[in-house]
Amino acid sequence: MLRVDLAVVGGGPAGSIVAREAARGGLKVVLLERAPNAPLRCTGIISTEAGEELGIPGGLVLERLVGVVVHGPQGTRAVLTGDSTKALVLDRVGLDKYLRNEAREAGATVWEGVSAKGWDHSVLFTSEEKLAPELLVGADGALSGVARWAGLPPPQEILAGYQAEVEAEPRYPGHAEIFLDPGIAPGFFAWAVPAGKLLRVGLVTHRGGEGYGHLKSLLLREFPESRVVRISGGLIPLGPPPSTATKRVFLVGDAAAQTKPLTGGGLYYGGLAAKLLGRLLSEGRQAEYERAWREKLGREIEFALRARRAYLDLSPVKLDYLVSLLRDPELGKFLLARGDMDRPSRILGELRRAPHLWPLGLKVLKTLGGFSRFAQFLQ
Ligand SMILES: Cc1cc2nc3c(=O)[nH]c(=O)nc-3n(C[C@H](O)[C@H](O)[C@H](O)COP(=O)(O)OP(=O)(O)OC[C@H]3O[C@@H](n4cnc5c(N)ncnc54)[C@H](O)[C@@H]3O)c2cc1C
Repeated sequence: MLRVDLAVVGGGPAGSIVAREAARGGLKVVLLERAPNAPLRCTGIISTEAGEELGIPGGLVLERLVGVVVHGPQGTRAVLTGDSTKALVLDRVGLDKYLRNEAREAGATVWEGVSAKGWDHSVLFTSEEKLAPELLVGADGALSGVARWAGLPPPQEILAGYQAEVEAEPRYPGHAEIFLDPGIAPGFFAWAVPAGKLLRVGLVTHRGGEGYGHLKSLLLREFPESRVVRISGGLIPLGPPPSTATKRVFLVGDAAAQTKPLTGGGLYYGGLAAKLLGRLLSEGRQAEYERAWREKLGREIEFALRARRAYLDLSPVKLDYLVSLLRDPELGKFLLARGDMDRPSRILGELRRAPHLWPLGLKVLKTLGGFSRFAQFLQ
């Protein structure tokens, strides 16, 4: 049995970042990844600021996005174009390999093709050798086994994502297309995003629904001439559980639902929490993790959960009305210049400082259920 300071289950971005930071801090770390060659299950969008903060190398960037095209369910369309890059589309499979390699270079031992099987509070059973870690991290995704073994609760909600990589020319180069259409993506939205030579077309909806059927309908409706290269699916946890740590076990990334409830994106929040956790573990300050990550992300997650509930209440007519408001060139310019993909609540404070947009801003807020729904988030 191998004794180590830390075992990390899951070599996705969150697990590799924890392993890297902890190893850099001097801990003896083993990182386990059961499927090191898994196919793409992500669109790979991250804001430019998040890319910088997480140290994503330029070689992993497939596309730079300057704007977004929003489609309402009844055909209304708003094209918002910024004057600089707002977001990056990453080679996500390459990112996972890159980060695992960084963990290795920092001194972590990486076991690829090895599965964690169970935990009895001192021994981690794996498909290979047993491990006896002082500390255990669950970075093993939305259906975290580590969470179950440690008696930690699951995320508040888990949705399902479906994505096709298709050969098709982007209709709006440099833009992500978003489809707000309850007929195609009940409970969420669909997208088409250029990624190098391919287009990533996907949607998120409830688990156990007709996800693949909806994806097929979306492809037929929007890209009838395209050739599908690959189809994949994955889970999207939303809303962190009330507790993500015990004295010796810590959840991070999707395992802790450190995702953005409005988009399902987890690369940035998970990466941020992972960096924090790795450092705290190596400094012996792990007891601070739960409070510290919620201090960084809790407010934005709460705001976005509330905005998501407001979005779910909207009828197709109201959705189209919202998109029609976005067509206002001043509002579009404002949202791209002052909006923050990673901290959506900040738009309220920005709006307060832009009186010329108050009439439009109030219409948007009224459609979303009224200002009082969001008042507590005004900074
Ligand atoms: C269709 C889709 C599109 C998405 N698009 C975006 C996007 O554009 N931007 C964005 O920010 N986010 C996006 N996401 C979300 C993003 O992919 C996740 O938030 C992110 O992958 C979470 O990283 P993680 O390291 O926490 O978990 P994961 O990436 O899920 O990694 C967990 C790892 O743990 C391994 N594992 C699990 N159990 C075990 C075990 N018992 N033993 C060993 N290994 C184990 C798995 O093989 C896996 O590699 C998308 C998700 C989906 C489904």
